[in-house]
Amino acid sequence: MQKVRSKVYNFILMLIMGVFIFSTVLAMPHTAQAATSSTTTKIIAQGTKYATELYVIKSGVPGPVVMIVGGIHGNETAGYKAADKVKDYSIEKGTLLVLPQANKRAVAAHTRSMGGADLNRDFPTSKSDKPDNTMSTAIFNVVKEYNVDWLMDMHEGANYEKIKSSSSVGQSLIYYPDTQTKTIATKIVKSLNVGIKTSYKDFTLLRYPVSGSLASASAKVLGVNSFIFETCSKDYLSTRISYQLKAANMLLNYLQMK
Ligand SMILES: [Zn+2]
Repeated sequence: MQKVRSKVYNFILMLIMGVFIFSTVLAMPHTAQAATSSTTTKIIAQGTKYATELYVIKSGVPGPVVMIVGGIHGNETAGYKAADKVKDYSIEKGTLLVLPQANKRAVAAHTRSMGGADLNRDFPTSKSDKPDNTMSTAIFNVVKEYNVDWLMDMHEGANYEKIKSSSSVGQSLIYYPDTQTKTIATKIVKSLNVGIKTSYKDFTLLRYPVSGSLASASAKVLGVNSFIFETCSKDYLSTRISYQLKAANMLLNYLQMK
């Protein structure tokens, strides 16, 4: 009788433990179902002197395709340095394409352009136009082939303020008009300016990226939500990189990718 009682007791104990373990497992985060971000490195303009790395970061979950570009102008350091950090991101949704050194030879030589007058004037200016050369063709093909939804192009300028007499746009976010683009562009500029104590250093919101630029062509020809982001090269490099990254992160957060 004693034995039977202890067997029943053990059985009940095991049952309680089983229920406890089972419910604990159920309550745990479903790690197996979470996004598994993976990065593939591709070479664009392969076999030419313009060959450069494109990082394709896939979340494994459907969502927007975002492209972040640095180094179109090789002497705009914060742009390609920030993009180089973004290439190591993992994401939770959609696809992130990062082209840290769009004009790799110009970055190596630390000059604005190399292999053309200005890469950011070589993209189509209308739907009937084509990119001007090997580099612009290779970059524009990425935007087309991956069906990019959002594009951020990282640049730098010589001044904090917009100077009317010159082409200087100052610290700014220059977007191609679209309601959604304007919404996030306004948020980014407002948020960055909160931390800036000297008003002439404030970021300004401008529109219409210059004709022939990657942002302009992507928006006008392919309907991509596009903007150029410009920091001022007079500031500390670490500050400029952090502005670039903050803008990129805000875009990715807005799209629930990060
Ligand atoms: Zn530039």
